[in-house]
Amino acid sequence: MEIILATQNSGKIKEFNELARGTELNFIPVPSNPTFPEETGGTFFENASIKANFVFSLTGRTCLGDDSGLEVDALNGKPGVHSSRFSKEATDKSNMDKLLNELSEVSCKDRSARFKCCLVLIQENVNNLISTEGVIEGKIAEGKKGDKGFGYDPIFIPEGSLLHMAEMDQKEKNLISHRANAFNSLLKKLS
Ligand code: IMP
Repeated sequence: MEIILATQNSGKIKEFNELARGTELNFIPVPSNPTFPEETGGTFFENASIKANFVFSLTGRTCLGDDSGLEVDALNGKPGVHSSRFSKEATDKSNMDKLLNELSEVSCKDRSARFKCCLVLIQENVNNLISTEGVIEGKIAEGKKGDKGFGYDPIFIPEGSLLHMAEMDQKEKNLISHRANAFNSLLKKLS
């Protein structure tokens, strides 16, 4: 089953096909290279829906939208849907530096956080919609470690782990990540 992944990020096609290994799903990029609408939703579900609906309206084919981000309890859930543009420069480094700075007075026990991922699959018509959510609980470290992954991985320690997420390779991350959890729930709903 071919699914168009509603993203402009080619790395995500690779990541989803890695998660789909051994299944009948095959993720392909959006055929033309359209400019995506702004992600104006207030939730991960709304943003994933914006992407999926946009690509479905262009192609009329089965497509998957995803949206993800980091919620930090001590910051009342920030950066949330603004994770990729939390700081003015909006680079991984500037986003992490801003977060570490905002948590500089927060003790280890109060640094709980989670990554969330929402997936929205549209099949055949816009009313045939499946959505799932995946979560990974953890905490924000006091400094960066590791050079793998992306985004906030160097400062996120998954619950029960001694490693920062950026110290894990993709295979290890795919066993526990919010995206993997959301994807596995999607597989269950599809079957
Ligand atoms: P999006 O789902 O591509 O819009 O991702 C939003 C942002 O959330 C990314 O730019 C990262 O800053 C953050 N993020 C989402 N998933 C991860 C992850 O697995 N590791 C680290 N950061 C993530």
